[in-house]
Amino acid sequence: MFKVSWDRETGGIKLSSLVEKDTINISPRPVFYEELNLLGLNTLGWQYPECEEPLLWACNKEYYYRGDLVFEAKDANIYDKATIVFQPGKEKLKLKPVNMQKMLERTKEQMFLCESEAIEFIRDIYDTYSGANRMTEKHAANRMDFESLAQIQEKKTKQKMAIVKEDCESFDIMPLSEAEKQGKKVLKATKIDYFLASFSGGKDSQVVLDLCTRALPPDSFQVIYSDTGYELPSSLELYNEVQKHYHEQFPTLKFRTARNHEAVLNYWDKIGTPSDSHRWCCTIMKTAPLYRMLKVPGTNKQAKVLTIDGVRAEESVRRSAYEREGKGKHTNITNVHPIIGWNTVEVFLYLFRYNLPINLAYRIGKARVGCIVCPFSTAWDDMIVKNCYPRELKPFEDRIIQWSSKLGIKDVDAYIKSRKWKIKALGNKSKTDVNFQDSSANFIANIVNPVDSIYTWMQTLGDYTVINRGNKDMGELQYANAVYHFETHYYEKGRIQFVLHNCPTKLSLLLRRVMYKAAYCVRCEACEVDCPTGALTIVPDINIDKTKCIHCQKCLNSHDRGCIATDCIRMINDTDKKMSLKIQAYKTFGFRAEWLDEFLIDPEYFWNDNSLGTAQVDGFKAWLKEAEITDAKNVITDFGNLVKEVYLNDSDLAWELIWINLASNSFVVNWYVNNISVNQVFEKRTLIESICTSVPGAPSRTVENAVAALLQTFSYSPLGKQFMCAEQIGKNQYQRGEYSGISNIGLAYSIYRFAERIGTKSLRVSDFYDDDAEGSTSRVFGLNQTTFEQGLRSLNSEKNRVLIAELSMGLQHITLRDDLNSKNIVSIMFGL
Ligand code: SF4
Ligand code: SF4
Repeated sequence: MFKVSWDRETGGIKLSSLVEKDTINISPRPVFYEELNLLGLNTLGWQYPECEEPLLWACNKEYYYRGDLVFEAKDANIYDKATIVFQPGKEKLKLKPVNMQKMLERTKEQMFLCESEAIEFIRDIYDTYSGANRMTEKHAANRMDFESLAQIQEKKTKQKMAIVKEDCESFDIMPLSEAEKQGKKVLKATKIDYFLASFSGGKDSQVVLDLCTRALPPDSFQVIYSDTGYELPSSLELYNEVQKHYHEQFPTLKFRTARNHEAVLNYWDKIGTPSDSHRWCCTIMKTAPLYRMLKVPGTNKQAKVLTIDGVRAEESVRRSAYEREGKGKHTNITNVHPIIGWNTVEVFLYLFRYNLPINLAYRIGKARVGCIVCPFSTAWDDMIVKNCYPRELKPFEDRIIQWSSKLGIKDVDAYIKSRKWKIKALGNKSKTDVNFQDSSANFIANIVNPVDSIYTWMQTLGDYTVINRGNKDMGELQYANAVYHFETHYYEKGRIQFVLHNCPTKLSLLLRRVMYKAAYCVRCEACEVDCPTGALTIVPDINIDKTKCIHCQKCLNSHDRGCIATDCIRMINDTDKKMSLKIQAYKTFGFRAEWLDEFLIDPEYFWNDNSLGTAQVDGFKAWLKEAEITDAKNVITDFGNLVKEVYLNDSDLAWELIWINLASNSFVVNWYVNNISVNQVFEKRTLIESICTSVPGAPSRTVENAVAALLQTFSYSPLGKQFMCAEQIGKNQYQRGEYSGISNIGLAYSIYRFAERIGTKSLRVSDFYDDDAEGSTSRVFGLNQTTFEQGLRSLNSEKNRVLIAELSMGLQHITLRDDLNSKNIVSIMFGL
């Protein structure tokens, strides 16, 4: 909420509502002696007391003592501790702790405002959602069931109704839109069964819990902790300490712990590692157990829940888009974020001010508290966990090593160090398979070794009957007021074919999900949470209560393919297959400027008539999709329309945007920008060999075609010679160069995309040059650091600054704007 600057006198920080001369654009975190010991500062000649108070502050990996940068910690990873690079003259420092008393005194007023506002917000939300019935309990004369009345009115009028609080403590019911127009205090008609403060062991949820205890009566909400099974030991310790702390003050405050019925390692063995694109652990180990625990008393029905959490906008790009109040991922869940606008410093000041216990993980250097293993953790986090919790990490590390080796990765250490295992899931291959046969009228599924009977989920579509005739079943399904006939054939070796005749498209999509769930279910319980009637139970066996199921299909639609496990298992089985198909789609054709020209003139008509041959059309379609110009149905996307506008005025910029997207989406371009360095000379043959070596299992013919297509792209578009991506310098020789002519818009777009990929709005220049900076702007355009910093300065000095770059006095900070993202930055900068 407030601006942060150094307070050199106390060694702490100051808060102010105005930007001052020494305002820091990044909110620093306090650094304690435990972190300095881990980094080895006590053996490098520094002296400091082993005290409770912080000693320094850190912005990313830059450490500040009383306002001065004193050292940087570089190149940490799971197997290597950080290298310490001291600022000149700071090699032998004697540190004094932060004067906490003075710092807290100087920030008292600002923190009072932060806290009061958040407490008022929590109270207001509670009043709004606790329902008119509860409100009116205080007023005997008004004791009417307003909630039921509002629901009856909603059904009758088919519009959203609100209960409003009038003057003199009386209540009324009116349409929500009208109430909002009149500025009335609205009491939501939704009845909330449980108010929760969700506790994660992190500093943000700890502050929110404390605020809740100050804002609400202790028996009006519960504290819920989700134990994922691979929590940091320090988080479990803190949870015990926190319970003790609040029970002493509020004996009636209820704490509950949610856990999945199975150990997380069992899920690793069944569905593989969580990865960047399949972060199943949060759903299966955290949110699903939590909400499954909260049923309406005496029923299996999901309770209506309002969760007060510690989400903050500063934490990530995705979170910065959150409203302060909104619907959760699962049905029946509302989330509110009272401290969404707080910065890191304010959160720590709150903990210091009220002398609340601090998770040891922060003291040893973690900026965020998560699990022992997390696909979103940084190389820095990996270093801390490996050094501080090796025993807890070992079973997970062992599996990553085993599965990487099985995949044929040659240098497993390097693979793990550079965190490549997080990009694509690793795991045991499954013997189950499902595929669907093309047929215009019938739905045909071929399934091998399904976990459950293929009828397990059929009830969600409608009532059905089955008669068995030897190796064949005959059946009927009632769906949407019609009856459909189906047959199931059972063959040897667990092979099954299911055929449903005259299947409409919508039913066919749902049937796919029914088949996937039956084939792959691992009883994770994630989809049970989405059942609104309590008809579905997963453990110990899947049961759909016919008397309660309303065929809403919410359990089929809770995830892609209807099942979170299916996605993960198929991803492991399909890794190599998918990659080869993706490459094959180009045939040997490159992305040609003349084709793009022709396409952008009239993107719709182009597919009816163009100058390309049939095979070339297929190749071009693949390139357009990977450039995000068209979607899966070859229809121009919003981004495609933007490229079209840009192309008419500035075709170079359009090609910059295209190259940035290809570097993210095209396997061969991604490999090229991350593996071929500037000035490197290479031949087609060496490129093919290198790809085949680094991607075990990739068919060599496929790779040859992809490389041919890439080299053609360089020859037939400005990307090769003009952008210096690869210039032909001999009969078979090419050389990569630096594209120093990148435009400000291209640079900004690339930076925002990279930041979104790594999930932050505050970066350092070195983040673009680190070993693991895959897909960074510097790699995509081969920019050296001087050119890149010039570009940043230019963006920083624009009238309407799209980022803040602090590059003087050894600083390396880049702060992106909260209101901008890769989706809007080009049109804003281009003036569209
Ligand atoms: S069907 Fe439901 S319970 Fe079974 S694995 Fe899939 S999401 Fe989990
Ligand atoms: S979500 Fe529940 S009610 Fe809806 S189809 Fe599935 S089992 Fe039936």
